[in-house]
Amino acid sequence: MTLSAGDVAGRPLPAPDAVSAPYWSAAAEGRLLFQQCTACGHRQFYPRAMCTACAGEPAWVEAAGRGTVHTFTVIRQNWSEPFKSQLPYVVVMVDLDEGVRMMAGLTDCEPGDVRIGMPVEAYTVVVEDGLGIPFFRPAGDE
Ligand SMILES: [Zn+2]
Repeated sequence: MTLSAGDVAGRPLPAPDAVSAPYWSAAAEGRLLFQQCTACGHRQFYPRAMCTACAGEPAWVEAAGRGTVHTFTVIRQNWSEPFKSQLPYVVVMVDLDEGVRMMAGLTDCEPGDVRIGMPVEAYTVVVEDGLGIPFFRPAGDE
């Protein structure tokens, strides 16, 4: 099931800092960002203060939100609420079409149905003002 704010209530929340704050606030608006270097064009995720290829200055770029599952794991044991009541759940590493890789929860997919290479699309859940958390779900046909 596609998650809503109530489903993520009680989770530990990200702590945005000066570098990552734009990423989290964009997610609150339903946008998925990654960084691209203004000097060499290198793309990277997670957010960093400088380019990992040339130490140049990264700029924010909006992703289309589509990608494929690089790998995944099925979480079957977690003693902490609210995760405990959502078992089993799937965590995926997704290769975005733009070439960066990110980790997030996968929803709307039975744990036995997730596959490497499966097309997925991002969506975000607003957990508090200015703070959204990205998730993925199987991509529809577009
Ligand atoms: Zn660079």
